[in-house]
Amino acid sequence: MAATKIGLVSLGCPKNLVDSEEMLGALVETGQAEMVGDPAGADVLVVNTCAFIESAKQESIDAILAAVRRKQRGQVGRVVVTGCLAQRYGSELAAEIPEVDAFLGIQSAPQITDAVFGPAARRGFALPMAGAPTDVPHVQIRDLDDKYPLIPPARVRATAPWTAYLKVSEGCDHACTFCAIPTFRGRHRSKPIERVLDEARRLVDSGARELNLIAQDTTAYGMDLYKELSLPRLLEGLGRIEGLRWVRLLYCYPTMMTDRLIRTMADTPNVARYVDVPLQHGDDAMLRRMKRGGSVASYLRLFERLRAAMPDVTLRTTFLVGFPGEDEAAFANLSRFVEEARFDRLGVFEYSPEENTPGYDMSPRVPQKVAARRRRDLMAAQQPISLAHNHAWVGHELDVLVEGRRGEDAVGRSYRDAPEIDGTVLVRNCEAAPGDWVRARVSEAAPYDLVAVPVRDEG
Ligand code: SF4
Repeated sequence: MAATKIGLVSLGCPKNLVDSEEMLGALVETGQAEMVGDPAGADVLVVNTCAFIESAKQESIDAILAAVRRKQRGQVGRVVVTGCLAQRYGSELAAEIPEVDAFLGIQSAPQITDAVFGPAARRGFALPMAGAPTDVPHVQIRDLDDKYPLIPPARVRATAPWTAYLKVSEGCDHACTFCAIPTFRGRHRSKPIERVLDEARRLVDSGARELNLIAQDTTAYGMDLYKELSLPRLLEGLGRIEGLRWVRLLYCYPTMMTDRLIRTMADTPNVARYVDVPLQHGDDAMLRRMKRGGSVASYLRLFERLRAAMPDVTLRTTFLVGFPGEDEAAFANLSRFVEEARFDRLGVFEYSPEENTPGYDMSPRVPQKVAARRRRDLMAAQQPISLAHNHAWVGHELDVLVEGRRGEDAVGRSYRDAPEIDGTVLVRNCEAAPGDWVRARVSEAAPYDLVAVPVRDEG
């Protein structure tokens, strides 16, 4: 029997991408499914959605409607919607878009085979699959208190072979007033450390040389299971995996960056000197309104501690502008903070009011136009700072992980660049292929990207 062709549209953040990869793994493991890159050739379309902010929700709804149109034209047999939007609004969506065959929530790898191969609940449509389960609930949302099983599920990776995301926990125990994530991703629960290390080894065995650690709050890792912040212990374990060259920490929470964590980062050679620590604001009153831990002074001290332990550390942060109550004085404080902290990388989001969050009812609201202007101003203020950081690298050497070719040149990333979000290093006149590593000396700098030349082996 021919395999069912699965088309996947994965939206949102890397955490969602890992869920997508595990769903594909579960499907391919049945031996009855194969993945197709182009939805045009698919029998079943899976849309893994995002519900982070308004624009992300809209993008997800557009993708669902596009999939449904393909189904109405007879181009695909079944549409399955998964992920955050389904978790958050599954029942409403089922009523609004009855053409969708099944709605599953987050982390739906255990249910996806039923949804894809089982008889459809309401449409009467069923793919002719041997041994298919008999019952497919139309909307099936996962219990948010579910613990992680010890055995990692199969995973079909959608990223380049040399890089992978490693999700260490799910959910969040913080109560940031702008964020709805805890309401639909649940409380923080960590994967057992043996399981994370096992997953890491499998990823390295399958060719990954860079692992990007992700979670809603990576620094909270282990608190629920081991009653202590266990990221340092995890990093020590990852430090012993042969063949793993970069372990990168994304989504750190500023007040959870302990001295022990910083020391472990500095002492573990394969932990990249790179920290992504979203701060959200740089004005103390706004931080309190947002219910964020710490203060501007404590953040500045944190950067001092990080830079003292790792002088070559790359610091990335993100801010949220336009949260209710952000007046010109608060924004001026944020701008001053950006000047003082001198981040290497900076991202800025505009606030969008999310239902079921305290921020939704807060006032005074900031007009969208003002938030957009503040975002532009902050990005512009950061440009010369990013450029100065990059300039400091001119004449110095970096290891570059090559990811593509541009004519005679190779394009890659250094430890200072997280995949998808940061810049690139263009290595001139370099024959290296994607997946290769080259040592290169930086020759030119722009605010986001570097240009370098290969360092010839003198021996
Ligand atoms: S730390 Fe705050 S912003 Fe991040 S997921 Fe948790 S509640 Fe949301």
